[in-house]
Amino acid sequence: MRFLYTKEVGKNLFMVELETGGFKNLICSYVLKGKKPFLIESGPTNSIPNLLSGLRELDVPFEDVEYVAVTHIHLDHGGGAGALLKFLPNAKVIVHPRGMPHLLDPERLWSSSQKVLGFVSEIFGKPEPVSKERVIAVTEGTFDLGNKDKLTVSETVGHASHNLSFQESFNGGIFPGDAAGTYLPEFDVVVPTTPPPFYLDAALSSLNRLIALKPTALYFSHFGKANNAIERLKDYKLQLQLWADITEEGVMKNQSLEEIRERILAEDHVMGQILDFVKSHRIYSKTILENCVRGFIEYVKQKQGS
Ligand SMILES: [Zn+2]
Repeated sequence: MRFLYTKEVGKNLFMVELETGGFKNLICSYVLKGKKPFLIESGPTNSIPNLLSGLRELDVPFEDVEYVAVTHIHLDHGGGAGALLKFLPNAKVIVHPRGMPHLLDPERLWSSSQKVLGFVSEIFGKPEPVSKERVIAVTEGTFDLGNKDKLTVSETVGHASHNLSFQESFNGGIFPGDAAGTYLPEFDVVVPTTPPPFYLDAALSSLNRLIALKPTALYFSHFGKANNAIERLKDYKLQLQLWADITEEGVMKNQSLEEIRERILAEDHVMGQILDFVKSHRIYSKTILENCVRGFIEYVKQKQGS
């Protein structure tokens, strides 16, 4: 049998390629097959049919799914939760308390996403509301995966004010959401995921938290499993610091976004390596080259103003 959407990436762990809007290697969900199937990330509304095909491929009966944990409520991670729950009659969504109001009433999230993401928000699709009794709001805690195995929740804000990370005990890997950057499997590198509002200090503390958990792997929502987890997290801290230093200097000199970006591209060797790919990518050219730089600029301006 040829598997279209799923791939085994660890013990009891499968990745589902969501192929949102036809884009491969952009967004994925994960399925932990413990006592009960446990989903990480619903992904966007528009790719819920592909996630469901993935579950069928993995022989996961929809009524068996107890939990869908979302790292945060941005459209590409938790935006599809409402649409997904219609197919999973017994599932509840695990989310940070600050994310919960947006699951219950996604209207504001949708209009702000349209502003920040532009045409990309249409590719992801509009979120549908989730009813309150189907939401579990947590910042820390553990969930039972059976046979003494568990999923541990850690609050890792910075990318968003409500980002959670999850560590599974089958393999010891972590689902960081967007707390550890975007992984480009084509190049085996990580680049910043820092759209506004981005909180650098919080992001760096969260990375320290993740390093202290000694993960054996990182399961990126964008995109896929990466080894050398601790080294990658440390490198990502340095990369964020580099972008922050360049932006701080640029803002002081009243430079434009384009001028600041040029310096980042010149000084961050990872960006040099992937530039052609990112420039010609319809989504990444908007998110990485524009929104992520803007996140740093707004962060620096806000810091200087306060
Ligand atoms: Zn994301």
